[in-house]
Amino acid sequence: GAWRPDEDDQQQGASGPVRVRVPAKINLHLGVGPLRADGYHELNTVYHAISIHDELTARRGDTLTLTMEGEGAGELALDDSNLVVRAARALAAHTGRPAHARLHLRKQIPLAGGLAGGSADAAATLVACDALWGTGLSRDELATIAADLGSDVPFLIHGGTALGTGRGEAVSPVLVRPTSWHWVVAIADGGLSTPEAYRELDRLRDTGDAPAPIGSTDALLAALRQRDPAVLAAVLGNDLQAAALSMRPTLAATLRAGESAGALAGIVSGSGPTCVFLTKDADDAERVAGELTAAGVCRQARPAHGPVAGARIC
Ligand code: ATP
Repeated sequence: GAWRPDEDDQQQGASGPVRVRVPAKINLHLGVGPLRADGYHELNTVYHAISIHDELTARRGDTLTLTMEGEGAGELALDDSNLVVRAARALAAHTGRPAHARLHLRKQIPLAGGLAGGSADAAATLVACDALWGTGLSRDELATIAADLGSDVPFLIHGGTALGTGRGEAVSPVLVRPTSWHWVVAIADGGLSTPEAYRELDRLRDTGDAPAPIGSTDALLAALRQRDPAVLAAVLGNDLQAAALSMRPTLAATLRAGESAGALAGIVSGSGPTCVFLTKDADDAERVAGELTAAGVCRQARPAHGPVAGARIC
């Protein structure tokens, strides 16, 4: 089992393995603003962590190694390009210690799915190595390192439901009375590249073929307070959806199939190709997931709920 260092032990770190669970994210609202001088788009987003998890285990070692199983095993490089390795090295550099650990990743979040799986793994690695090494950084310090690794990484440390601004790295929690929302996540075959989706949106905007931007998060935040899934369903929105549909036209059939199965609304998650559907309760999510699978419009449809916690030692 995992061992959590207490205050007194933090300098020593953990002698046993540290296991961290980290969720996937969806965007309830993904407003894409203008392209900035640094190459990022200005975002206005509401992140939401859902119950599809990757798990990262960190053990003591004499060098830095990474192994993996599950989604993307055999496809994803395990070298210095992997976000897990990059996160471990970033934490080591920040705290001035060697990046020595044996890391193992169990992946359920699909690659390049628009669910921020790579960012989730980076967040899990920061939390796991901080405990393994006893570096004892605060969540806010970890979030600062996280922001350099990727725009979605700070949110995946926090989890829950949160507002994201800047390029998405500036995160503030949305405080609402606890409610669980029930989703169906339709995972596609193959991924979509996030930078290509942004380029496609820019192209569609240049040619006047993009829908009007969804704009402010006000209606979404008001809907979250009402705790009625039908109200939330009406205001879900994603500016990148037009780009994802243009790059992967078959997603239109996936979205239609979910809605005809009785989902309250369906949207593309992030840059896609995963589609997510809001349903009225857990039973309905099971039923819609079954119908989507039977309709053959996705590789796999699974029920999930949110919000859930961010990267946590378990
Ligand atoms: P986002 O929603 O943040 O755009 P995504 O879910 O579309 O992300 P990811 O799976 O996070 O996509 O990763 C996109 C790319 O990042 C992958 O295709 C891969 O090349 C690279 N990558 C590096 N490390 C990882 C990792 N640990 N898991 C997944 N992808 C990784």
